[in-house]
Amino acid sequence: MADVLKLHQDPDFQASDVPTPNDFDKLKEKLKDYEPPLPGLEAGEGWQSVTVDISVPMGKQPGSQIGSTTKFSVPHLHHRSITELIQKIIRTNPDAKDFHLYPFEEYVTRNDATERLFGELYTSDAFLDEFRKVRAEPPEPDCNLEKIVLGLQFWSDATLLANFGTHKLWPVYMYIGNQSKYVRAKPTSDGGWDVAYIPELPDDIEEVLQQLPTKSAHQPLLTHCRRELFQNVLLQLLDEDFYNAYKHGMVIEFPDGIKRRVFPRILTWSADYPEKCLLATIRENGRCPCPRCFIKKSEIRNLGTKRDQRMRLQRRRKDNSWRRVMIESVRRNLYIFGKAIAGQFVNKRLDEFSMTPNENALSQRLQEFGLDYHEILPVDLLHEIEIGEWKRLLLHFIRMLYSREPGDVWVEQMNARFRAIPIFGKDTIRRLPQNVAGMKRLAARDYEDILQVSITVFEDLFGTEHSEAITKLIYVMAEWHCLAKLRLHSDSTLKHLDTVTTVLGKELRNFADKIAPSFNTKETVSETTARARQREKNQKTLFGQVLASSAARVKKYTLDRYKLHALGDYTSTIRRLGTTDSYSTYIGEARHRIKKQDYRKTNKRKFKLQMMATKSRHPAISQIDASAIGGHRPGHTDGTNNEPLVPHLRYDISKRADSTFHIGSFVQASATDRAVKHFKSQLSDHVLCRLRGIPYSGNSLELPQDCSALRIQNNHIHCHPTMRLNYTTYDVRRATDHVKPYLKFNRKAPHCQRSETRDRSTVMLSTSDNQQSSSGFLYARVLGIFHVLASEVGRTTQEIKRIDLLWVKWFSDVPGWKGGWETRRLDRVWFPPDSEDMGNYGFVDPADVVRACHLPPVFSCGEDAERQQSIASDEGGDYKFYDVNRFVDRDMYMRYFGGGVGHVDRNQVARTLVDTADNHNGNLDEDEDDEDEDFEDQIDFERLDAILEGVDDEEGEVEDDGEEDEEDSEPDCDREEEEEEDEDDDENIDNDYED
Ligand SMILES: [Zn+2]
Repeated sequence: MADVLKLHQDPDFQASDVPTPNDFDKLKEKLKDYEPPLPGLEAGEGWQSVTVDISVPMGKQPGSQIGSTTKFSVPHLHHRSITELIQKIIRTNPDAKDFHLYPFEEYVTRNDATERLFGELYTSDAFLDEFRKVRAEPPEPDCNLEKIVLGLQFWSDATLLANFGTHKLWPVYMYIGNQSKYVRAKPTSDGGWDVAYIPELPDDIEEVLQQLPTKSAHQPLLTHCRRELFQNVLLQLLDEDFYNAYKHGMVIEFPDGIKRRVFPRILTWSADYPEKCLLATIRENGRCPCPRCFIKKSEIRNLGTKRDQRMRLQRRRKDNSWRRVMIESVRRNLYIFGKAIAGQFVNKRLDEFSMTPNENALSQRLQEFGLDYHEILPVDLLHEIEIGEWKRLLLHFIRMLYSREPGDVWVEQMNARFRAIPIFGKDTIRRLPQNVAGMKRLAARDYEDILQVSITVFEDLFGTEHSEAITKLIYVMAEWHCLAKLRLHSDSTLKHLDTVTTVLGKELRNFADKIAPSFNTKETVSETTARARQREKNQKTLFGQVLASSAARVKKYTLDRYKLHALGDYTSTIRRLGTTDSYSTYIGEARHRIKKQDYRKTNKRKFKLQMMATKSRHPAISQIDASAIGGHRPGHTDGTNNEPLVPHLRYDISKRADSTFHIGSFVQASATDRAVKHFKSQLSDHVLCRLRGIPYSGNSLELPQDCSALRIQNNHIHCHPTMRLNYTTYDVRRATDHVKPYLKFNRKAPHCQRSETRDRSTVMLSTSDNQQSSSGFLYARVLGIFHVLASEVGRTTQEIKRIDLLWVKWFSDVPGWKGGWETRRLDRVWFPPDSEDMGNYGFVDPADVVRACHLPPVFSCGEDAERQQSIASDEGGDYKFYDVNRFVDRDMYMRYFGGGVGHVDRNQVARTLVDTADNHNGNLDEDEDDEDEDFEDQIDFERLDAILEGVDDEEGEVEDDGEEDEEDSEPDCDREEEEEEDEDDDENIDNDYED
């Protein structure tokens, strides 16, 4: 702003020099016709544009004994040399210095037991096998360079570039598995590279197909041509150079100045199901729909059984000579002898195995090096579960609710419950849409959120006969999803995943065979409308007229889809390739979003070329960034941009409070509220325990007779709007929870009201020896986040200490309720009916809090309106019960499962926390200038008020640590914004992909 003013005052300044909006319009108009130079094609980025030929089998022409073929050329395959790209990445990419060149196995030892860990690709068996194989080969002639393996990971998937319009992009992305997944899989990371934009089969293929002797061959041949095109594009990518690099390696100088011989190895190729079929040259949804094995559709329902597990091994698809000879023979008949593509000859040989008559490019080029293309196609949690099987199951639940009488009541109730689910984290559980039943515009992560809270929502919606079985099914599904998505597995978690898969299979069969058939399920309203709209569209194009929409069709729940079958492959895939986040299609989908942004920057003409140029600029820009800050890229150091402000501290509360109240006035103003009844005595007892370093139980009075020794400065409590809780996740990353108090304290008055952000007020603590909880955790609603300045008279040093504390309302276990895997239900807590004792409220040290937690209300049991009103309860009373959502995120789940690598033994946690808290309390506020002038001490507060005098004089003793205070003088609202940006964006991948 200052610069603008300066400019304005400059004597040479002419107002007419400033461009008007009109000028910008003109400029825009000019830019429309601007053809950008294409640095991507010229400046050594290695991009080239080539034509791909396919050969179309035209069958026998009349009067001929042999078949004829036609060559068809598809222009504009934009691609770049993979080998050149690899060289460039290793030589110039700033991340290359962090690549793991030597794969290793990872183990954890606890309680004298050692377990293998599964996570990164470079700790996986697939990587280790390739590494050993390469090392075992004899060295290249006259070469004694070290041999290393570069684990390549590919993604491919077509995407629409804009919501409106037909521009599509079908990119192939490449990632390097030697780089940590925590870096490369971040949506904001530059860890991926575009290697090709696959062209679509152009419309003029129709001219060729017009010459076909029979019309019936038209559609199958078109499909065949698409498959041929895809395989020929792959052949182009896996070119001569790539083959040679696979065979002999490439000598590349690494950032450490050492030359090594690099052997690229394709370890994963992630794609959705249709694309996987293209890659594996099999027919989509055919008789054997799985790209990894020959399971028949009718056998899919056996998921999780011993027989099913055996089948997966015995009937594994292999790229063996049987397959190759079969395809070769079919192709010979197709191309040379003119057999029809959809004719008996072809069908008889391939249909049974759902194979397609295409040569597989991966097999052609790389089979000789031991690559089996069936093995590099990993599972795909996003498409198979979140918008696959879970979405289908949810849809069927909704159909079942519609089928229940009367009318829409049950669906409306479900919608209302979803809306009332409290949010969690910044976006772990987001506010769910108004109409979940409509299932409109929901992204994959919405379905994930819905799954994580469905146990609570559906509890009693299906009537007494079926509700329990259905919530158990959801419980198993939620646990399965949690396990499949873990970022760090061990032998024991994988073993449990196997168990859960078996149970899930059983529950799903029970559901499909016994529960679902007892509901008369039809299409939902949205389904019927969607179908009618689709049909309208088709009719229009066919006859130019619209037919009336039809009635809802009957819909059954079946267990014969490939996606369901895929659930049985997760354990083996994780054992072989590491955890699913390493090759998830989320990563590719996130990169698609960047592509869409790039597309918006183009003038939409020859957009692929322009996007290639943009892509070549991205890495250049990050390199400039990197050198500008001394090679240190923010957010790349620990793989998360969620770096806490003071990461070594257990928790973090702003130094300055946003309001302050007088203890006596507050207690008096709320005299009739039972939440406040023991406030004063519990507070002083807690503070005194903290000063003396005595463990505090959380609610009872430990030192009732000693309270007269306590001095609290000005008798004031300082309130904070937020607390950041740092913790180590099960996969040994840093993470932070944000806790907001349930109550909002007014600045100038001792009154408070319920805060708008009270959803975030629930926390969990570890139990200590004398506390009882079935889950091993205690749960509390944080009413206020406070600090006081306190000291104790009669001690040798009367140092004033800042004591941070949380005023809490305790939840208790619901008597007789048992949650967990054995009962397949969530732990359940409640606020026991208020009694005269002080057990329901208390104070805790923030350092004792383990994490924030998610406690959705148990809707089926309703609210407890009979209880006395209190500021510590919701308007109209709290719910009677709350579920403890252990599935809210993976870290939370592992706290219940136990054995999380980043988690410490619970009792150990409690001890360490006491230590850190003491350190933290060393940082004191510099001064207390927000002391309230208008505030009158109207009441004589015997004990506590007497304390006042002694402390005021000692203010000088309060130490301040100078430097940091300046930053803290920022108002808290700014700070809040910072926090929001700080939060981890890792899982925030919106996915508009519709299956
Ligand atoms: Zn299979």
